Amino acid sequence: MTDALSIAQQLIRCPSVTPADAGALGVLENLLKTHGFEVHRVAFSEPGFADVDNLYARIGKDAPHITFAGHTDVVPAGDEAAWKHGAFSGELKDGFLYGRGAVDMKGGIACSVAAVLDYLAAHEMAHLVEMNHSPRFWRVVARVCDHVERAKTWLDTHGNDLHRYGIQD
Ligand SMILES: [Zn+2]
Repeated sequence: MTDALSIAQQLIRCPSVTPADAGALGVLENLLKTHGFEVHRVAFSEPGFADVDNLYARIGKDAPHITFAGHTDVVPAGDEAAWKHGAFSGELKDGFLYGRGAVDMKGGIACSVAAVLDYLAAHEMAHLVEMNHSPRFWRVVARVCDHVERAKTWLDTHGNDLHRYGIQD
């Protein structure tokens, strides 16, 4: 199982205060590249603002597409001495993760990346047993990656709403 906490800590430890990246995109780029994603850096420019680097990663070419979008930049930490746990420490204490972006939204990005990588691993493993996408295949995927059924149920309920936020390829 992919360690979402470790990914979140790596991201939080990058002081990526807008427009700085401070290595945060590199954490994701290396991880996703290692797992077969095609990755691209795209600079967003707007007059009067510093360029902001973005990362676009994709795996596979077939429809339907599922897109996870988010940001790795954070607002300034303010007086860092006033933080009980370092603003960029990624410290884990009593079951809580601390640091700028832990909630908004490095934690969320870490969870989505971990979920996708787990799903891809389960999918590949299931093909070792079933060389198709039959009901038997999906039962193997569900056994290997137990949150697939929960995700499918959520998609069955809310999936159509996602089309409202589509992008042009
Ligand atoms: Zn397949």
